[in-house]
Amino acid sequence: MSPTKMNQFRDLNLIEPIVKAVEAEGYTLPTPVQKQAIPIVLSRQDLLACAQTGTGKTAAFALPILQLLTEKRTPVGPPAVPGIRVLVLTPTRELATQIGESFTNYGRELRIRNTVIFGGVGQNAQVNALRRGVDIVVATPGRLLDLMNQRLIRFNGLEIFVLDEADRMLDMGFIHDVRRVITGIPKQRQTLFFSATMPPEISKLSAQILTKPVRIEVTPVASTAEKVSQAIYPVDAGKKTSLLVELLKDPKVTRSLVFTRTKREANRVAEALLAVGIGAAAIHGNKSQSAREKALAGIKTGATRVLVATDIAARGIDIDDISHVFNHDIPNIPESYVHRIGRTARAGNAGIAISFCSPQERSFMRDIERLIRQEITVLKTPEGLSNEAHKPRQGWRPVGGSGRGRPAPNARSGGRPGGRAANRPGENRYSSSNSFANSSATSSLIRR
Ligand code: AMP
Repeated sequence: MSPTKMNQFRDLNLIEPIVKAVEAEGYTLPTPVQKQAIPIVLSRQDLLACAQTGTGKTAAFALPILQLLTEKRTPVGPPAVPGIRVLVLTPTRELATQIGESFTNYGRELRIRNTVIFGGVGQNAQVNALRRGVDIVVATPGRLLDLMNQRLIRFNGLEIFVLDEADRMLDMGFIHDVRRVITGIPKQRQTLFFSATMPPEISKLSAQILTKPVRIEVTPVASTAEKVSQAIYPVDAGKKTSLLVELLKDPKVTRSLVFTRTKREANRVAEALLAVGIGAAAIHGNKSQSAREKALAGIKTGATRVLVATDIAARGIDIDDISHVFNHDIPNIPESYVHRIGRTARAGNAGIAISFCSPQERSFMRDIERLIRQEITVLKTPEGLSNEAHKPRQGWRPVGGSGRGRPAPNARSGGRPGGRAANRPGENRYSSSNSFANSSATSSLIRR
């Protein structure tokens, strides 16, 4: 059978031009979120989807939206209500750009126009694009509100509203802007709500803006984390960059993302890597749009091996084949850890995530383990870079839930079917097979 006949997107009742476009992207099998969401969107129902970045969620809404827009286009004359028919709100400009590109790529055989609106650049080009007329607007909340307040954008004919990465909007402090945008769009509409996690405020928002939504859940936080081989190196804060340089000697680290807590730290780490001849670039909110684009292009072409990013900047970065994610600093919001490690192991690939944990960050690491309900392997830090946390059970609580501190993840959850059993109390969490003496310390982490 030809690949075209085998394409299972056709089974989702997607029209030929869209099936062809996804084929051109190299997709043949819909991902689970696509399988579930596409029929719901096509049937014009509201959708509440718990799905991470990396699951194919963009196509899950973009493909059926393109189809709905096509179906409603009358054969003669313009659509009944000219103007913007779809609004997608997303937290970062990178994500907005990528979603815009996805609409363009998936709709290459359709005459549906999209434009992207975000801050940090002049508004004129964006306003001009709106004036020329568009069907789909993909926007970040701040700039969109600006344009709405200036009455430069109207949503009278809006049919579909997509809220993407709702939990991230909350983390980034955009939730009030999101609410304000929603008050400025028609109440009668189809709403598609995507969030990786459902903290109470997001759950409340979803209940307020959705009408009888169909709920789907494709990648509970824990299961995303399961796809990634994870490890911790205990290390003093001041030795983290040296440890990174050591680990980057492994040629199997082909394309990596390094996360730091601050922009300054991202710059410092990138400079330190460059100083020892490792191709690196920093990406964060203080960088100009062109510097960010240059950094992204560098990592995509392979000219840059290491991208050093803050959480916010990394959000929405869509780079295939990230071999390793390094947490130079441990995030204090456990969900951020899941978002970070989700940058590797995309589209079903395995990936490796390594966290550098200073004694001050151990409580963050524990919160993360509790969220993902996994014990993360602790590796032996290379000679000269270690700290006192090397002594088993001095720095880390006994695994299994007894003793000091909070219960171990598995103890609390009662164990998850298919999950790894927690170590017994007192058991050493060090993995002897992962000693750094092995030249491939970073790649020797195999899928558990
Ligand atoms: P997203 O979750 O939308 O950020 O998508 C993650 C990545 O998966 C992107 O690089 C997409 O191009 C890719 N992708 C989306 N759908 C499919 C599919 N059905 N088959 C293969 N790759 C896909």
